[in-house]
Amino acid sequence: MKYSVITGASSGIGYETALAFAARGKNLIIVARRIDKLEELKTTIHKINPQLDVIICTADLSVTDEAYILYNKLKGYEIETWINNAGLGESAFVADQNLSKVETMLRVNIESLTILSTLFVRDYADQEGTQLINVSSALGYAIVVGSITYSASKYYVSSFTEGLAKELELNGAKLKAKVLAPAMTETEFAKNATDLDHFNYKENLPMYHTAKQVAGFMMELYDSNAVVGVVDQNYEFKISNPIYPIIEV
Ligand code: NAP
Repeated sequence: MKYSVITGASSGIGYETALAFAARGKNLIIVARRIDKLEELKTTIHKINPQLDVIICTADLSVTDEAYILYNKLKGYEIETWINNAGLGESAFVADQNLSKVETMLRVNIESLTILSTLFVRDYADQEGTQLINVSSALGYAIVVGSITYSASKYYVSSFTEGLAKELELNGAKLKAKVLAPAMTETEFAKNATDLDHFNYKENLPMYHTAKQVAGFMMELYDSNAVVGVVDQNYEFKISNPIYPIIEV
């Protein structure tokens, strides 16, 4: 039995990605803090395919120890794909940003993603058919004033993952590392980033994707040999070679 792990599966892109993997007949390990949402997802998956094994794991990935505990809990499963999707934003000018929220964001977006990526690479670098997909953002390739710290956290995700992909290639590893960089997507993300009770995408944005569309981009990247899948300024999804310059020593 092989499994695909998706962090941040309780809503938005992670939720729809879990459904897309389920449609491919993949057993799933779904991770987030909200167990009720994960149980709802498991029920929905079993309506699509009752044969699939779906493991629910709760973890607060803003707590460093919980990233290690999560990984160790999953040691007994054979994992073919690991998707670090959990993440959050902070929409504010730097001087005005909520530092407690920023600390949480940096721990989830950067620290836990780095810990989980490293542990997965250690165990699976030589396993044929394995993939690590880290979810960055279009803001991981272009800075947007008003969300600079979030954007910088996603620059980290993009450069870390592109560099890791190169390192794996140079070492002849079988594991592929990839980075998905969506643009504005209708999820709980904007509401949480702006601390509003509700964010109306239709009224506030000229263009955006649905989470289901982005899950489709995820599958396109998963099926390709490319390292990067990025939504460009015209809201078109492009599979591409690594974007950052890399120095090989
Ligand atoms: P979302 O609907 O808010 O989903 C975020 C997911 O992350 C939820 O499942 C949430 O689960 C999980 N999460 C947040 N904090 C967590 C924590 N401390 N521990 C564990 N899990 C945590 O937003 P989304 O848009 O789908 O975001 C998914 C990814 O896409 C993020 O990395 C985001 O940066 C990226 N992205 C989003 C957009 C966009 O416009 N929506 C654009 C580009 C990139 P719980 O709350 O249940 O823990």
